[in-house]
Amino acid sequence: MSTLEIRDLHASVGKKKILHGVNLSISSGEVHAVMGPNGAGKSTLSAVVMGKTGYTVTSGSVLLDGVEMLGIPTWKRASAGLHLVMQYPTEVPGVMLNDVLSEALKGRGRDGDIARLDTLLKTEAGRIHFDEKFLDRPLNVDLSGGEKKRNETLQLSILKPLFVILDELDSGLDVDALRDCARRVMDATSEDSLGALVITHYSRLLTELRPSKIHILVKGQIVKTGGPELADVLERDGYAAFTPAEVAAEADAKDDPMGLNLFP
Ligand code: ADP
Ligand code: MG
Repeated sequence: MSTLEIRDLHASVGKKKILHGVNLSISSGEVHAVMGPNGAGKSTLSAVVMGKTGYTVTSGSVLLDGVEMLGIPTWKRASAGLHLVMQYPTEVPGVMLNDVLSEALKGRGRDGDIARLDTLLKTEAGRIHFDEKFLDRPLNVDLSGGEKKRNETLQLSILKPLFVILDELDSGLDVDALRDCARRVMDATSEDSLGALVITHYSRLLTELRPSKIHILVKGQIVKTGGPELADVLERDGYAAFTPAEVAAEADAKDDPMGLNLFP
């Protein structure tokens, strides 16, 4: 049983403070959703947890089984068991999918044999209805939005991380692809005890990826945590109901302590 714990995380981009003390803890096999409006800081949270450059963590911790992930390079976080499915997966011309996965597996001390990997890739591709012809492409190159997300889900199924952050898995996906990807992730939570942090602003995704907890992120803070029923409340009332005036005022004041309004 593993735990990913985000403790009082504050982060900025340039002079703009984006995360204002995020607390969240997730264990193996659990699915938690982070929901929030555009610009709430959801992608920033995923970027900071994975160590993407350009973000400054001003305080807080990201602990994987008690080990601090902040300050160590992204590849080490990945080999420790963290994985991000990006909102907009990157195309990497010239780099083949099976080579990437083979190296990643070897880097984790696992079997990276290409022939065995190719067999496994075909089996896993079948599970999510990802056309085998795409397996011979450079990473994500010339794939549609939906195919890219299927490709990312495929990598997840091979690498079997401890925790995955799915940043808007639903963006760019049609309903069939969404169902295939979401079901594969749900299967991994039971087959491999994968812990999944599902970032989305639509409750639609959560009918397939069923979270036990939903965290609502507004203006860089988790303003409410509850059970799956929170998604229905959001659907009905929108995010406005979860933006208490004091939270908005506090976030604005932290962004702009002298009231200069330099970064509106
Ligand atoms: P979400 O994913 O919830 O829509 P983001 O984390 O992408 O939100 O963005 C939160 C805020 O931080 C937005 O106001 C966005 O413009 C700003 N932001 C995020 N990344 C950057 C960046 N690299 N440079 C400048 N501003 C950024
Ligand atoms: Mg985002």
